[in-house]
Amino acid sequence: MYDAIVIGAGHNGLISAAYLQKRGLKTLVLERTDRIGGACVTEELFPGFRISTASYSLSLLLPEIITELELDLDVRAKDPESFSPVEGGGGLFMWRDPAKRHEQISRFSKKDADAYPEFVALFEEASRILRPLLRYPATRKQARRAFRRSEIEKLFDRTVDGSIADLCEEYFESDIVQGLMASQGIIGSAAGPRTPGSAYVYLHHAFGEATGEPGVWGFVRGGMGAITAALAERLRALGGEIRLEAPVASVKLDARRVAGVVLDSGEEIDAPAVLSNADPKRTLALFDPKELAPEFVTDVELLPTEGTVVKVNCALGGLPRFTGMEGAGEPGPEHLGTITIAPSIAYLEKACDQAAAGEPADEFFCEAWIQTATEPELAPEGKHTLSVFAQYAPYKLATGTWDERRDEIADRVIASLERFAPGLSDLIEDRLVLGPPDLEERFGLTGGNIFHGEILPGWIFDDRPSHAWHRHRLPLAGAYLCGSGAHPGGGVCGAPGRSAARALLEDLAHRGDI
Ligand SMILES: Cc1cc2nc3c(=O)[nH]c(=O)nc-3n(C[C@H](O)[C@H](O)[C@H](O)COP(=O)(O)OP(=O)(O)OC[C@H]3O[C@@H](n4cnc5c(N)ncnc54)[C@H](O)[C@@H]3O)c2cc1C
Repeated sequence: MYDAIVIGAGHNGLISAAYLQKRGLKTLVLERTDRIGGACVTEELFPGFRISTASYSLSLLLPEIITELELDLDVRAKDPESFSPVEGGGGLFMWRDPAKRHEQISRFSKKDADAYPEFVALFEEASRILRPLLRYPATRKQARRAFRRSEIEKLFDRTVDGSIADLCEEYFESDIVQGLMASQGIIGSAAGPRTPGSAYVYLHHAFGEATGEPGVWGFVRGGMGAITAALAERLRALGGEIRLEAPVASVKLDARRVAGVVLDSGEEIDAPAVLSNADPKRTLALFDPKELAPEFVTDVELLPTEGTVVKVNCALGGLPRFTGMEGAGEPGPEHLGTITIAPSIAYLEKACDQAAAGEPADEFFCEAWIQTATEPELAPEGKHTLSVFAQYAPYKLATGTWDERRDEIADRVIASLERFAPGLSDLIEDRLVLGPPDLEERFGLTGGNIFHGEILPGWIFDDRPSHAWHRHRLPLAGAYLCGSGAHPGGGVCGAPGRSAARALLEDLAHRGDI
């Protein structure tokens, strides 16, 4: 008999379990696959090549989780943050140093270079107000009220409900800066840069502090799996248990109270509390819907979960050489940060529209990362890893199937990069292509949605995952949602896991059980 069972060993599930175990609750984590980490993993995908198969970059993880759970992580802020190659050679380097960055942006537009700090300040102000709201189940009304205290007029309307394209066009004039900044408002979404609420997707990616600096993204030594390995180690050191290859088929009830779980194998494990790290739709499938509040069932069924992300993970025989860059085989600045292909808002829009019509983009928005440029030990000597996060490809193709078209779609992704790095495809020794249906199968992400459901207004704050049930509790006593489908949403953030554990602890305290 356990005090609590967590379904799923994603980072949020492990965080919930660690907090519960720390408070003395005997906690068991049950994971469907043979791996710990969910979408936050490092795997040896090809002999000698270790890659972050899904998520690849860190910023959002709440700093207090790192300290409270005493996680030993080596996080390096990216510098340059990004390199956007351009036709004809070279490109835009977004250095962390303000003077160097200003000089770089000025090569494309002096106006944009001057406007950049103001644009960042807008989102810094919104992030400053948002941060406390991430840490408890805040409602939209509370958020709106908090944003109203800012001196910046209509901050909520602009950075939560607005479109990222509108903001980028307001501040910038050059295609390259508009495209680069707008790309952060569509990451992981099926929405395009002109969709109302895409500004929130940007804001969601701006609130992080895990690198020690607000809004700055970084890379974790050893890949993203280092985070979940550290969490699992901490949980076990506290006395918690993790069982792999233990898929949960259903949650057991006793008189409308949770009583434990039943595994696919038929084995039953008892516990008075169950926290689901599975996404809301998968969580729903663990219950008889007749046992749940109908509004919860409807809201979860309506949660948009069709993803548009293709991840192409490659083993490279050497470093790609970008046109106009020196690249004598040694890593240059173009290899050190994210390589972003988002040349304009129109480019992003076209890719989005094609996917909405059921076709993969002709030319993809890409964020590529070569972790071995700074950590050569992740690949055999002289070789490299390349991880490409690309959009947009539809979950459901209008023509053909993913099995028939996976390679063709991956070729389009690589071609979108190769335009700027001729010879890239010749360097690829092996690759693993994960389109939305593959992300669904491998990681259990319904529809391949990387956030367990869109993080657009309508599905954030008290609308996540359901307006009636947003406080990390499910509509049955003893059942909780601890994954990215709960407030404040996806990304390697940990807030849903921490808050769900607190919700259970609060309920136990309220009943006098702890
Ligand atoms: C391709 C890709 C790139 C991304 N890039 C980034 C990035 O760079 N930075 C970032 O911050 N975020 C990124 N994300 C998003 C981020 O990885 C996810 O939002 C986050 O990892 C989700 O964590 P989670 O713990 O909520 O759930 P998950 O990681 O989805 O974990 C849920 C776990 O539950 C298990 N499970 C499901 N059903 C059952 C069941 N019935 N029984 C037992 N176990 C079950 C699953 O197998 C899984 O292990 C990316 C995601 C993807 C897919």
